[in-house]
Amino acid sequence: MPDTFQLEIVTPEKLVVKDVAGEMQIPGKNGYLGILPGHAPLITEVAVGEISYRNNGYTHHLAVAWGFAEVLPDNVTILAETAERPEDIDVQRAEKAKERAEQLLKSGNTETDYARANSALQRAQTRLQVATEKGK
Ligand code: ATP
Repeated sequence: MPDTFQLEIVTPEKLVVKDVAGEMQIPGKNGYLGILPGHAPLITEVAVGEISYRNNGYTHHLAVAWGFAEVLPDNVTILAETAERPEDIDVQRAEKAKERAEQLLKSGNTETDYARANSALQRAQTRLQVATEKGK
């Protein structure tokens, strides 16, 4: 059994990660999913959250939102709407997005699309969290 698998994380804009991993965590619709080499094949939805993977004793972190993961024994591919490495995250922008979403959620305005505002809040919180993991 191999002790690593190939990993690709792709968005409509670019190939964000092409690497080798020994283990990873994916934010699924029903919580986090842990993947090790030799995992049984599956296709699953990716929600909003943090992807982490280990390579040579180093843990890499990314903020992702919405997509699909294809898991094969020696290969994992993530197709996500957005995916950012810590160094690509604009913290000020994420803070503004978080404030906007929080204002909307507490406005009590009947026109507010709460599901949308909640999703925006989760994306912003994930980006802020991942940005602090830069260099760890
Ligand atoms: P905003 O309200 O600031 O646009 P958003 O959550 O609505 O945030 P998305 O629709 O998820 O933004 O993403 C649109 C594009 O902008 C994607 O390419 C995403 O990677 C990028 N992006 C969004 N927020 C940030 C950020 N804080 N830093 C870097 N890139 C970001």
